[in-house]
Amino acid sequence: MTSTKTLCPYCGVGCGLEVSPTKSKKAPADSDWTVRGDRAHPSSQGMVCVKGATIAEAIDKNRLLYPLMRASLDEPFRRVSWEEALTAIADRIRHVVATQGPEAVCMYGSGQLQTEDYYTAQKLLKGCLGTNNFDANSRLCMSSAVAAYIQSFGSDGPPPCYDDLENTDCAFLIGTNTAECHPIVFNRLRKYHRKKRGKVKLIVVDPRRTETAKDADLHLAIRPGTDITLMNGIAHILLRQRWIDAMFIDEATKDFQAYAEVIRHYPPERVAEVCGITVKDLEEAARWWGLSKSVLSLWSMGINQSSEGTAKARTLINLHLMTGQIGKPGAGPFSLTGQPNAMGGREAGGLAHILPGYRLVKNPEHRRAVEQAWQLPAGSISPTPGLAAWDMMVGLEQGAVGLFWVAATNPAVSMPDIERTKAALRRSPFTVYQDAYYPTETAEYAHVLLPAAQWGEKTGIMTNSERTVTLCPAFQPRPGETRADWEIFAEVGRRLGFEQQFAWQSAAEVYDEFVQLTAGRVCDMTGLSHDRLAAGPIQWPCPQQETAQTAWNKYDKRLYADHHFPTPNGRANFAAFHEGGLAELPDTDFPFVLTNGRLYGHWHTQTRTGRIDKIRKMHPEPLLEMNPLDAQRLQLQSGDWVEVRSRRGAACLKLLVTQYIRKGVLFIPMHWGALWADQAECNALTHAAVCPISLQPELKASAVAVVPLTAEMRVAVMSGEQHDLGLVGVARDQ
Ligand code: SF4
Repeated sequence: MTSTKTLCPYCGVGCGLEVSPTKSKKAPADSDWTVRGDRAHPSSQGMVCVKGATIAEAIDKNRLLYPLMRASLDEPFRRVSWEEALTAIADRIRHVVATQGPEAVCMYGSGQLQTEDYYTAQKLLKGCLGTNNFDANSRLCMSSAVAAYIQSFGSDGPPPCYDDLENTDCAFLIGTNTAECHPIVFNRLRKYHRKKRGKVKLIVVDPRRTETAKDADLHLAIRPGTDITLMNGIAHILLRQRWIDAMFIDEATKDFQAYAEVIRHYPPERVAEVCGITVKDLEEAARWWGLSKSVLSLWSMGINQSSEGTAKARTLINLHLMTGQIGKPGAGPFSLTGQPNAMGGREAGGLAHILPGYRLVKNPEHRRAVEQAWQLPAGSISPTPGLAAWDMMVGLEQGAVGLFWVAATNPAVSMPDIERTKAALRRSPFTVYQDAYYPTETAEYAHVLLPAAQWGEKTGIMTNSERTVTLCPAFQPRPGETRADWEIFAEVGRRLGFEQQFAWQSAAEVYDEFVQLTAGRVCDMTGLSHDRLAAGPIQWPCPQQETAQTAWNKYDKRLYADHHFPTPNGRANFAAFHEGGLAELPDTDFPFVLTNGRLYGHWHTQTRTGRIDKIRKMHPEPLLEMNPLDAQRLQLQSGDWVEVRSRRGAACLKLLVTQYIRKGVLFIPMHWGALWADQAECNALTHAAVCPISLQPELKASAVAVVPLTAEMRVAVMSGEQHDLGLVGVARDQ
């Protein structure tokens, strides 16, 4: 059998992989499949990180193979047929719609879904059932970037591409540990930066000296929550020094004067003091931004996961607009997506406020276009955005949700305020959980478990962060009775009476229908199909008449190269924001700011990577990072056990004392749920305050206290015994 070219199913970098049968005579081989980087893939050029390289080892482990059901959560599951499971789901949907209305049906999906899965779910929920209650874990990941792009440019869609990593004069990385979270993007940048040492500047903004910050020419270790102040301070200097592009501002933007009025209030001395950095470093950052021919900014969760995430992302975009750093090689604001097909989800309308083809639920023309394409009566799609991720938990708490359907994600680990989340999940009258793996933490809260075929077992499309679309063909038979996610959604649709809407015979047909809804939109993909993508990945926009080569030439691989934006007046919008600060400030009871993030080897809630030996050995346990000054004051050292407490819960972790984190700030990796470690859940501590625009929760910052644990106390904590340890802390870094 020959090799299969596909895409890595982990992060949004979207590296091309080549999978072939294992020939090694070593016994036992780690997997039947050998994976290597696809040198022909334009995004990754043959590179892969440890996750992509080991992915095949997780394919066959701990799979959910058959549908399972139970009447209540305290009963064991029993194996059932697909017929019984699907009949129960369709009956339940009919019952909930009849008794509570369509708004009581919710689906929570994932950037792990392929575009065909996403699209089919939108048609079922938003079109046929008439509720926009489809949201995805992308809400926790990059919905602030989506909102910022839409508000600033008139449309979603990251303007730059990965080639800009090797064409920039200044890379500005804020709120992103790219080296660990998007390793191959950082590999490309790091190689180029080292080759051009001294000529290309790398600025990293992060309260931690991360693997990314270690490569920086300038590391701005700002206080958590001061990003807007920092960026307004840079803008202040750019304006004062006239390092701006007046012609671009004049011809291609709107509302610069209102913005200039706000940044006037951010002189360097004040900004440096608020951010906890030196004036010299601030001025250096502004000088490099202002005098570089091209500036590329990268950002991810450190900006997006904030109660002012949209404001932060727009403030970063403002810097690009005032300096004309967009639509040209090596320039532009580039949000890195967390998941392999979060971009495809955005294209297919996979959030509660959007529709396929970068359309908005609230826009009547957009709704009508989609209704016509779906051959549904006018008014079928509700004009009201559906429940966002956290709102679904609140809906469960309040008894407003009659059916909760989860696909390809693990909310019992990844949602904020996890004890409250679990209590909400326990209240669900009927939860369908569709996943490839079993057990997971969320399975504990399900009434119906549906076995999903995963990467390598179904054919579908994924789009990576730079808008490159890749066909991911099936290369091995589906195990047990697993089915593709889109097939499950379509079958339920047919059982609800929508035979015409779900008459497809293949994923290729689903994709053909979807791309028609992108015609004339920023994300025009009408030139794409499974057949065409079988020859190799293609970046959008790619209208029907374009070949891959002419599309790239015409669009220069970047959006907005012509400085025309899809707003009503064709101009990009400035927006002026003052700093709002953290939603939960540290105080005397909870004196530390806790932040969290990924480690290089692990992925999300370990559903796959927890089952790969090499990665488990690489990161055997979660550690709490603390600055030496804080540790000294608490008389703690590396290896000591501590309890971290917030207003919502506690976690018990081993300490790592490191100078790579700011005084007053702590860090926990976000990967460990109840299945993988005892009482080390990061989200036991986080809160659910959201950005009012994007509705993305502020997972990145919570106020916590630290309690040293003796051996006896640790035994008591782990056994769940009541204990009163008293709170010990240090004052916040002022
Ligand atoms: S960088 Fe991301 S897409 Fe590339 S191999 Fe690693 S996990 Fe996969």
